[in-house]
Amino acid sequence: MAIYPIRTFPDPVLSMSAASVIVFDEHLARLVDDMIETMYDAPGVGLAAPQIGVLKSIFVADVGEGPFVVVNPVLVETAGRWKSEEGCLSIPGRYWEVSRAEYAKVDGVGINGAPVSYEGDELLGRVLQHETDHVDGKLLLARLSTRPRKQALKELREDALNARRLT
Ligand code: ZN
Repeated sequence: MAIYPIRTFPDPVLSMSAASVIVFDEHLARLVDDMIETMYDAPGVGLAAPQIGVLKSIFVADVGEGPFVVVNPVLVETAGRWKSEEGCLSIPGRYWEVSRAEYAKVDGVGINGAPVSYEGDELLGRVLQHETDHVDGKLLLARLSTRPRKQALKELREDALNARRLT
């Protein structure tokens, strides 16, 4: 098991679409174990492979009922609307009010290639949408409306400039 460093905004890998997994072998199983360990270490409730620089369509999550993995996730159903504060391990320490579907259902496969399906309201629904977005190369910033997004990008740019000044 290994803990990976988590890529942070504006790392370009976070805006790239991940490739579908077509080989289900021990390398995949090890990668998923490492992703779960990295997620708990962070700590976070979800982690997608692009966040550790691996452009494969995989995410892991645990909203308090044990870890699960979805390989090649596809958002197949949503309902309702729920605005809630949301953060991302790739944008550490920042939170925004993000409006998403309240209910979401994601289909995919497990590490052996067998079909899996996860669905949930509120936190689980939100995590399913957030992590599926990651494998599609989308950060939560893309889910903000125009004005808060512009403000967020401005603040993140300033943070990046300040960080560069310090190093
Ligand atoms: Zn995230």
